[in-house]
Amino acid sequence: MVLWGVIGASTIGRDWMVPAISAQPDSRVAAVASSDPERGRRYAEELNIPKAYSSVGDLIADATLDAVYISTTNESHEQHALTAISAGKHVLCEKPLALSLDSARAMVAAAAAAGVVMGTNHHLRNAATHRRMRDVIQSGTIGRPLAARVFHAVYLPPHLQSWRIDRPDAGGGVILDITVHDADTLRFALSDEVVEVTAMTASQGMGRAGLEDGVMGVMRFEKGTIAQFHDAFTAPHAYTGFEVHGTEGSLYGRDVMTQRPTGTVTLRRGDSEEEIAIEHENLYERSVRCFNEAIRDKAEPAASGVDGVRSLAVALAVRESAGTGRTVRVAGA
Ligand code: NDP
Repeated sequence: MVLWGVIGASTIGRDWMVPAISAQPDSRVAAVASSDPERGRRYAEELNIPKAYSSVGDLIADATLDAVYISTTNESHEQHALTAISAGKHVLCEKPLALSLDSARAMVAAAAAAGVVMGTNHHLRNAATHRRMRDVIQSGTIGRPLAARVFHAVYLPPHLQSWRIDRPDAGGGVILDITVHDADTLRFALSDEVVEVTAMTASQGMGRAGLEDGVMGVMRFEKGTIAQFHDAFTAPHAYTGFEVHGTEGSLYGRDVMTQRPTGTVTLRRGDSEEEIAIEHENLYERSVRCFNEAIRDKAEPAASGVDGVRSLAVALAVRESAGTGRTVRVAGA
């Protein structure tokens, strides 16, 4: 049995991750830490979590816990991860891993030195749709991938219109929130690495304090594929999608850039269109299942710490490109 401590009385924990941990036969949430004792207590009560700690230090000191899931705001991930790792806990951390590459790399290095499993909660590579697209691409069915298009413009719901839109110090802005997911999903589906990016941002009514709420750009991959992406907080009516266009065929993923186990994938070759069969599975449950297995088998989780460093490197390059108007090389892990 893997006993989890949850660091952060967050929305993602409430809506997806605490239920996902509890859904596994081999794990349960034993404790939560919140900086607000009363909110933490209510959160624990609502989600049936036995213990509520009012500091991360107290939670980490709980020797019964094997692993922690970190979903505090982004500027705190590094400190929370390093504290947990120093106590020998396995760490599944939310994206972006940190606000700087040095911080993210330090987290990965500390986990490796301590011999604990470290994962990044990139949920989309756990989607059955993206996994099928990756399989089809690897099988050679669409030939050489020439281009990809990611449609990930959404509407940030009112209850989440807080630090994401007005706190640069907390890692707000659409690039650190959504572009990191595009980068990870593209890397995963294409089995390739981003080498350079170019991008433009916009602030169209939701972003404050200089934060962007929309971004469009292009990534160039090592093997030559180019990928365009559009991410936003301000698009209530847009479909999401993920397309890969190869020399022998095109894959159209519709409604696939989402937290829900939904969406379709169509393979188009010439005039023929074929819907690919998908067996949907809860993305977050798969993430936790893989993480529990990684602890047991001393293996890699679905998305590793290094995957989190790489997606952050792409996002930071996108931000730099938008700020400077130049194409930017992406740093390595
Ligand atoms: P929330 O704003 O819901 O929670 C973040 C922190 O804010 C919590 O840890 C909590 O601090 C504090 N907080 C929560 N509710 C309140 C409140 N009512 N009043 C005051 N403070 C509050 O953020 P999200 O759950 O949306 O995101 C958390 C992390 O998860 C981020 O890193 C984000 O990028 C990531 N995320 C990942 C997703 C994925 O699919 N992989 C999806 C959504 C988010 P405390 O714990 O101290 O109480």
